[in-house]
Amino acid sequence: MRVLVLGAGVIGTTSAYYLARAGHEVTVVERQSGPALETSFANAGGICPGFAGPWAAPGMPGKIARLLFARHAPVALRPQLDPYQWRWLALFLKNCGAERFARNKARMQRIAHYSKGCLTELRAETGIAFDHGSGGVLQLFRTEEELAGAAKATRVLEQFGVAHCLLDGKGVLAVEPALGDAAITFAGGLHLSEDETGDCHKFTVALAQLARLCGVTFRFDTRITGLRLDGNRVVGVTTSAGKVDADASVIALGSEAALMLRSVGIDLPIYPVKGYSFTAELDADTPAPRSSVMDEHYKVMITRMGRRIRAAGVAEIGGYDLAIRRSGPETVLASLRELFPQTIPDAKPWAGLRPMTPDGPPYLGATGITNLYVNVGQGSNGWTQACGCGRIVADIVSGRRPEIDMDGFQVGR
Ligand SMILES: Cc1cc2nc3c(=O)[nH]c(=O)nc-3n(C[C@H](O)[C@H](O)[C@H](O)COP(=O)(O)OP(=O)(O)OC[C@H]3O[C@@H](n4cnc5c(N)ncnc54)[C@H](O)[C@@H]3O)c2cc1C
Repeated sequence: MRVLVLGAGVIGTTSAYYLARAGHEVTVVERQSGPALETSFANAGGICPGFAGPWAAPGMPGKIARLLFARHAPVALRPQLDPYQWRWLALFLKNCGAERFARNKARMQRIAHYSKGCLTELRAETGIAFDHGSGGVLQLFRTEEELAGAAKATRVLEQFGVAHCLLDGKGVLAVEPALGDAAITFAGGLHLSEDETGDCHKFTVALAQLARLCGVTFRFDTRITGLRLDGNRVVGVTTSAGKVDADASVIALGSEAALMLRSVGIDLPIYPVKGYSFTAELDADTPAPRSSVMDEHYKVMITRMGRRIRAAGVAEIGGYDLAIRRSGPETVLASLRELFPQTIPDAKPWAGLRPMTPDGPPYLGATGITNLYVNVGQGSNGWTQACGCGRIVADIVSGRRPEIDMDGFQVGR
């Protein structure tokens, strides 16, 4: 089939690659001048099935209420005159109950572990380079209270068979010796040794090149302005460069997927949640993490990517604009300065919009409109889930049964 992929972030590009491998004639349409220049550009770099789970969790509403007023708050709510923001918040609260959390967590674990397997296979087959690391992620706790919370988290990890190790302050330094130069001390940590790291932008650019070798055409600098339907069947798109015809179309437009889908009567509760990052070049003797640390106090993740480190975090719920506000970057910098004080980050922060569903899992597959498919809503886990989601959607478009159970990922779930 002639398959159109809408969007060349990490999700669209993995979809295109697996679709081409399945034998389709694939065209990717993207408004930017290259792959992964929006949310997939400068994320925290964690490939973290161990941590994969919904933000909507028991106790979260109270925690968020406290965090909103904290100094260097990791969460910001900017109310908009947008009913979709309020609906998203209401659905988020509804999903904080224990039963829904357990169900959503299980779904996200299922896709994240499958995806890691797909990435491992892809690396073995292609040798794709993206500053990949396999040193795990160390969750850091500054206070005894935070450490006590981790004990609860380990029960969930045990339930899903995730390898982990609870550490005291000394153990933390054994895993990440550079934290010895930190401006603060640690009560302890939780090490998830099987999680991985890598540069999502580098990966996507390299995968786009591999996809081209499999016959994929990329049409950059081309804005999609609408979906073209013939009755209940999608026949292509209109773009800033004219019409493009297709037998099937896959929407991978990140946060903006919700807007495009609403124009054809499909209403998915995806809402943008902004985050920020800073990147720092390293010289040989700058103390820096060997792999990745997650600062629980500020909810900031700091990851080594070759000769750079990236600090990323903050959840700002305030619409689609990419404006850089002072408070978000300050939180990320506060964490970086306290943990790795000798690093000198870029002068300017980067901002990206996580395409979040209120319950956590993405939407994958058929939409109710013939030959229109979605690969959307990966939220804070899109890099972790990309290969698995791309392969699943390619299977569905090709009429094959995906390799994992699809319960909980369908439109209309
Ligand atoms: C601060 C931060 C830290 C994160 N850390 C991690 C992490 O450690 N691990 C992890 O797994 N995930 C992480 N994420 C999440 C991850 O980055 C996202 O889930 C993922 O990048 C989403 O990919 P995407 O392809 O869906 O969206 P995008 O990368 O935004 O791609 C969508 C594409 O669609 C294009 N597009 C949109 N509308 C149109 C249009 N009308 N016409 C043409 N093109 C259009 C856009 O230009 C864009 O290129 C983080 C996110 C943020 C913000």
